[in-house]
Amino acid sequence: MAVGKTALGTLASENDNALQMAKPVALILFGSPGSGKGTQSKYLVEWLKIPQISTGDMLREHIRQGDTIGQAIQARMAAGSLVSDELVNQLVFERINQPDAQRGFILDGYPRTPAQAEEMMRLLAARGAGEVVIHLVVDYNVIISRMSGRRVCPKCGTLYNAISRPPKVDGICDLDGESLVIREDDREDVVRQRLEQYERQTQPLIEFFRKTSERLIEVDASHEKPEAVFERIKSGLQGFIGQ
Ligand SMILES: [Zn+2]
Repeated sequence: MAVGKTALGTLASENDNALQMAKPVALILFGSPGSGKGTQSKYLVEWLKIPQISTGDMLREHIRQGDTIGQAIQARMAAGSLVSDELVNQLVFERINQPDAQRGFILDGYPRTPAQAEEMMRLLAARGAGEVVIHLVVDYNVIISRMSGRRVCPKCGTLYNAISRPPKVDGICDLDGESLVIREDDREDVVRQRLEQYERQTQPLIEFFRKTSERLIEVDASHEKPEAVFERIKSGLQGFIGQ
């Protein structure tokens, strides 16, 4: 469901499939574990031809390279503290100034706090970029039954799902007859815990954007296929950034 309407660009020419945008767009994607956020992000990258920027990936890359920033991150993590808003903001702002992000970008895992969100909105306004917030709303009971129905073969790694992809014989791998197991991450109590943690972290941000942004797209992502969810996101976006 799209709220409000702002036309910032014109539609693509006939031989260009990407949505044309007059202003750089910052897509901010929120979705719980199991909401299909990764898939929607990939669809958006392909459709809009803008990069996806993941703060988790950027932090890991600095740690891997062992540069000054990477060492600072590691020192904080070793001390049991979170990476500071200031550092994360700096990394994101450097990244979005690179040439491939001039038309826009998709933010994944950022902002994580209302303070980061406030700073980001200020910077986007200064750059003349407009934000669109996409919230994949899910029914937690659906996610829990979907994720807790997952089984994996410990021998060949094949994934099964009690609902969407059951093995031919209950509890047995089709390929090699091995007994299927539940991954630690898919245990119901672990899934519940992750959902609660997500909720605690994200709810204040959603509230922040409800108050400060007219461009919030909330889509039910728990009942339909990813392709259908993407169609809803597309029509919401066309209302905001296309014409
Ligand atoms: Zn197997």
